[in-house]
Amino acid sequence: EEQVNELRETLGIKVTGPSPPRPVASFAHFGFDDALMKAIRKSEYTQPTPIQAQAVPAALGGRDIIGIAKTGSGKTAAFIWPMLVHIMDQKQLAEGDGPIGLILAPTRELSLQIYNEAKKFGKVYNVNVVCCYGGGSKWEQSKALEGGAEIVVATPGRMIDLVKMKATNLVRVTYLVLDEADRMFDMGFEPQVRSICNHVRPDRQTLLFSATFKKRVEKLARDVLTDPVRIVQGDVG
Ligand code: ADP
Ligand code: MG
Repeated sequence: EEQVNELRETLGIKVTGPSPPRPVASFAHFGFDDALMKAIRKSEYTQPTPIQAQAVPAALGGRDIIGIAKTGSGKTAAFIWPMLVHIMDQKQLAEGDGPIGLILAPTRELSLQIYNEAKKFGKVYNVNVVCCYGGGSKWEQSKALEGGAEIVVATPGRMIDLVKMKATNLVRVTYLVLDEADRMFDMGFEPQVRSICNHVRPDRQTLLFSATFKKRVEKLARDVLTDPVRIVQGDVG
């Protein structure tokens, strides 16, 4: 216990919530298979970032997570790696199947960044990733969804449009990520984010990431997460 607290202090993170798992000190301790480890080595990441060190074990344990850390702290991989493990535990994909992993992000640019990271590591397992954002062609995005995708990265408004058009569905979603929650709220996406959360099965795993943790995001977290592990890096929050 003492050691765990020391490690967290060294990492500069504060962790609250019911029985959080121990953070790890190196990639080897995540228990990833050789294929994913190889892809991580290829990225030339030498060690997990502080948020990864704590969030990955929690996510692998099936826990809901609140991750508060500033931009550039490696939050994307912190939710992508456990998402891939979660997906590989499920049955095979059939054509037209909706996603298992759904990531909501505020903008086209951020969605594309996440999409690229998800593809970089998802290709290890031949996982299909589709990116859907406002301003892009609905027809093209529908086409991309047709073949089936294990992971969809989307802006909230466009995701709702595509579900309404029956281009995809939320039936299989069991791993839901709300990335940059504060910015999604700044952009007025709160109703869409809440609507999507309400339409995803309640026994899902939910991960919320944000650079700040203000009232409205805190309220969302209370409403859509179950017994989350809350990880705060630095003085934000
Ligand atoms: P955030 O979402 O917290 O803003 P990102 O996930 O976009 O941060 O990561 C920021 C940068 O750090 C990216 O270029 C990413 O490739 C890189 N990165 C992620 N994890 C590691 C790591 N463990 N070691 C080194 N670089 C990393
Ligand atoms: Mg990010």
